[in-house]
Amino acid sequence: MEDITWKKDETPYLIFSCSKCHQYIYTKITQKSKKCVRCGYTHKVSKIIDRGEIIKGISNAVELVKKKQNDLAIKELGSEPEFRTLGDFKIAGKVKYQKNAINLDSEDDDYYEKFKQMLYSLSETHNSFPYYIIEIMAENYGIPQSEVKLLTRRLQRQGFLIRLNGDYSYKIRV
Ligand SMILES: [Zn+2]
Repeated sequence: MEDITWKKDETPYLIFSCSKCHQYIYTKITQKSKKCVRCGYTHKVSKIIDRGEIIKGISNAVELVKKKQNDLAIKELGSEPEFRTLGDFKIAGKVKYQKNAINLDSEDDDYYEKFKQMLYSLSETHNSFPYYIIEIMAENYGIPQSEVKLLTRRLQRQGFLIRLNGDYSYKIRV
């Protein structure tokens, strides 16, 4: 089981905020440098090691980055009352979903409809939204991360989802 091997992972990771674009990133501390996934700025790990937080295990590192990104989104999008913590994620009280509705046997089309519905809801409160918000919301909708990438691409091809130029943000076609 993937979960068990992850729990045993004692590799230290450094979580830090990109000095250029403020996106949160994780890197192995043994790595020499890390390129920001958002803006491409290359950070020397030795220079940022004192600025970041060290956490053991890749799954913990990913979780912490998500949590920090979520907090950042609250600041950036200015929507405290709607965007709460990861465990209690609602937008303007309009979205109804069941947290435990994760069904691994679901057809892809179920995810497709759910995902589209989610984007509609998101667009009611935000003109555009960064990709990590899509990821965080999808998680709360019970849509696996692997599906999120595929669905995003599929909807982009259909012209439903539009990626904004020079940005990692998206909006839907209205
Ligand atoms: Zn950056």
